[in-house]
Amino acid sequence: MRVHDVSLTIRADMPTWPGEAGPLIAPLKRMARGDSSNVSLVTFGDHTGTHVDPPVHFIDGSPGIDRVPVDALVGPCQVVAFTGDDHISGTWLDGAGLARGTERVLFKTRNSERWRDPATPFDKDFIALDETAAHWLVRAGVRLVGIDYLSIEPFGSGKIGHPVHIALLRANVVIVEGLDLHDVEPGGYELVCGPLKFQDGTGSPARVFLIER
Ligand SMILES: [Zn+2]
Repeated sequence: MRVHDVSLTIRADMPTWPGEAGPLIAPLKRMARGDSSNVSLVTFGDHTGTHVDPPVHFIDGSPGIDRVPVDALVGPCQVVAFTGDDHISGTWLDGAGLARGTERVLFKTRNSERWRDPATPFDKDFIALDETAAHWLVRAGVRLVGIDYLSIEPFGSGKIGHPVHIALLRANVVIVEGLDLHDVEPGGYELVCGPLKFQDGTGSPARVFLIER
């Protein structure tokens, strides 16, 4: 058995969404200063690094991160390679060969190459899903979908009301963003995704493992 850690390391100089501050890690106790232990105070946006979007991220009054179904977060998963330069569409998914009944899908795109240097600044020109892909995945019964950059939908989608997020979250599909798949081959794995349990949380960083048996 091999375990692939596909989460980003949380560090002060990591790229964040424009307008969101990066994580701050401040010492509370340090043994080097005579304290009994090492403890830090950490401050970060709840969509920092590898993270999960719960329905309340875009649908007011809907479940927060503490109510994301845990059985969607753990189980068989397909890593699908997308080598195009455009966004992933329903038409492309028609030919992607995804087996019927697939419940968890992670898209490995050229975005993952950016994570080779974890301090590479945010780049709005990333590959994402278009609205037809979101509807395709909902119709196929997918319960979790992940992407290897900081949003599942193209940059600037706020102008058109974030239709990809809305379509997925309305159907209770769990969205995982900010995956680092550069070292992972396409294929079948067991997924373990553990967002923190913030009460009514609007998102949470997650540690994500792909288990290869
Ligand atoms: Zn997010």
